[in-house]
Amino acid sequence: MEQESVQKAIARQRTLAVLAALAMLLGSFWFARTMAPQQETVALLCRPSCLVIDPGHGGLDGGAIAYNGVKESDLNLDIALKLQDLASFYGVETRMTRQDDKPRTSAQEYSEHEDLVYRADFAGQTPNAVLISIHQNTFPTSQPSGAQVLYGPDAESRKLGELTHRNLIEALQPQNRRVAEPAPKSLYLTAHANCPVILVECGFLSNLGDLQLLSDPNYQRSLSAVLLASYLQYTAGTIL
Ligand SMILES: [Zn+2]
Repeated sequence: MEQESVQKAIARQRTLAVLAALAMLLGSFWFARTMAPQQETVALLCRPSCLVIDPGHGGLDGGAIAYNGVKESDLNLDIALKLQDLASFYGVETRMTRQDDKPRTSAQEYSEHEDLVYRADFAGQTPNAVLISIHQNTFPTSQPSGAQVLYGPDAESRKLGELTHRNLIEALQPQNRRVAEPAPKSLYLTAHANCPVILVECGFLSNLGDLQLLSDPNYQRSLSAVLLASYLQYTAGTIL
């Protein structure tokens, strides 16, 4: 096949894969399974980026804690593992900064900064990494709700961040009026990841509606489908 035809075939296959991911999000498992073998073909035709999934916090650091004791670190891991499963189903290569809730260091050796350095280095040492860090928000009052995507300092991170944020709102939260924003320079991971990087605040643990959704495995699966679809769109260079 000519080079251009191959590239067009790859772009078409990837777009189909994105559609399949979104279809799965909407509950059409038949469509998703029909499309799956075509994504495997894509994986064989070209070496894709590696999706590095970072479930924020974990081990000695639970992150934000909801009124009922639900830990941000557990929700982050639940969503990350679902994203990893779905990505594997589509033949997308993934690496996880953590796979469980075991502490990586002893309590004496633990430092939050060192933990973030570890995660940034982990992504930095992965060839062709695209990093998605998964977190939950919290606020002193229960009013604020909704997802927000923060992106790293470069243009690629912004592109990924804006399309992911838009997809989250269109697919799951049409009332959400937040916008994707550059991550504050003080956020170590986004500032030092050295690859396209976004930090997804999936919702607010301090908001009862959000907490209920975020604790629901089906909603977690929907979140992971949107994140995967956004990653596939980004790496394919196609915006639906
Ligand atoms: Zn967090």
